[in-house]
Amino acid sequence: MKRIIFPVALVTMVATSCTGDKALEKASETITPGELREYTRILGADSMMGRKPFSPGETIVVNYLAGELEKTGFAPAFGESWFQEVPMVQITTMAESPVIITANGRKLELAAPDEIAVESPSMKEYIELVDMPMVFCGFGIVAPEYGWNDFSEVDVRGKCAVVLVNDPGLYTGDSALFKGRTMTYYGRWTYKYEEAARQGATAVLIIHETVGAGYDFSIPRTSSISPGLYQEPEAGEPEPCPVTGWLSAEAASEVFRALGMDVEKLRRDACLSGFRGFEMGSSISFRLTNSHVRNSSMNVAGILRGTTRPEEAIVISAHWDHFGVGENENGDSIYNGAVDNGTSMAWALEIGEAFSSMKKRPERSVILFFPTAEEQGLLGSSWFVANPPVSREGLVACFNNDLLLPLGRMKDIMVTGYGQSELDDLLEDAARRQDRYIMPDPNPESGMYFRSDHFPFARAGVPALFARGNFDSREYGREWTREQERDYIRNRYHKPADNYYPEMDFDGIAEDSRAVLDVAYRIVTSDIRPGWKPGSEFANIR
Ligand SMILES: [Zn+2]
Repeated sequence: MKRIIFPVALVTMVATSCTGDKALEKASETITPGELREYTRILGADSMMGRKPFSPGETIVVNYLAGELEKTGFAPAFGESWFQEVPMVQITTMAESPVIITANGRKLELAAPDEIAVESPSMKEYIELVDMPMVFCGFGIVAPEYGWNDFSEVDVRGKCAVVLVNDPGLYTGDSALFKGRTMTYYGRWTYKYEEAARQGATAVLIIHETVGAGYDFSIPRTSSISPGLYQEPEAGEPEPCPVTGWLSAEAASEVFRALGMDVEKLRRDACLSGFRGFEMGSSISFRLTNSHVRNSSMNVAGILRGTTRPEEAIVISAHWDHFGVGENENGDSIYNGAVDNGTSMAWALEIGEAFSSMKKRPERSVILFFPTAEEQGLLGSSWFVANPPVSREGLVACFNNDLLLPLGRMKDIMVTGYGQSELDDLLEDAARRQDRYIMPDPNPESGMYFRSDHFPFARAGVPALFARGNFDSREYGREWTREQERDYIRNRYHKPADNYYPEMDFDGIAEDSRAVLDVAYRIVTSDIRPGWKPGSEFANIR
């Protein structure tokens, strides 16, 4: 067998291009599990008071983040300021319980918030709606590209629209129907509220179902009794539905049973393209009291200005807000949000530090962005995208994280919204260099791509990546990882128990940070402009 001997110079060149770039490698080394742990410990500590917008916890966390950005070598992103004011109105809704539904002459009493969880985005202080007719509107979707209109045969003006969660693709598994099991934006509650408002409904209720929603009923229940944050309504914008909310699966079954109908059957029917909505022959009465506090909360961001093209920037984002101090559970009432979203803020800060450690600054700018009010509907990131510190055209890509689980090193990098943009391909190269594989989110039916701060970027046409190791532990395998994630969702997600624990393992988050650093570095040191892939619902926005 003939041996091939490479000239020394060639071998060296190949070796360098395999392991990547010297400057990148050096910068990567500044990312350490120990620093990630320290950031998470501080951001998840009781002293942050649950990091709720408008609370004393806000002042503490935004000042802390500004201080860290400064220490890291970033400059204020908003002129002289680290802070961007996001005007909002906080509405606290008290729903009179029980809520009365009259069906077939029978009076049903639904307990709020345990069986019916309602909120009101209205600026009215008192809302009384008596015997409002209820209309079943299938999935509550108008999607011309699929030839779908759940409202075509019904008039919901001044009435209460009752709709199913998610979209028909999920329940049929038919990949030709919407996107099959992958949730489209039509499946999200935000879309259903928006569409019901466009149709003129006075109230909209979504029938809860755990698989389709992606979470159990305790999530809308808790959110209905917590003050809600909304963007200040602007003149000329369509008014939101005055009453919005969810029916628990049990409550919905009870209501439809009283009408001689079955929710499961209705769902099957509503998946057929010939389905028509109908007046339910029942009515609902609400009495709600709203109290309003107008206030503004702060986005925090720093910028590392590019040397030759500072107007072009990538954004690394992780929301700072969480739920503050609330209902006591097992003797704890502080919603620390260590994983939601302390670990991701740590991830962002470490990537930022790696960039600022580089002797030769990148040509393009790097923005570290900590949005407010993610939990209340992506308000901070929406505001930022509408009012960015560089021009909208200058936003080249967004890298966001949320709920980064500190479970140690992973073989995978899971991409939520896989197939949307060319960032996937850049990440695939970075993953290979780490001996990891890329995988699409195995639960695309939960619509996670529409549920964190990269989404307002995507909606504005800016390619946005939401990726992390989440599936296949190097040490313990897939089953263990899935069980750990389930355990977090069941026992700590949006609960006071989302604390920092010393057993947390940050080695995997360190690798995730290095992978994103790798992709981001290649963009800010070149003129790569990642695009959307054909077929993405965001491809034609820009
Ligand atoms: Zn979060």
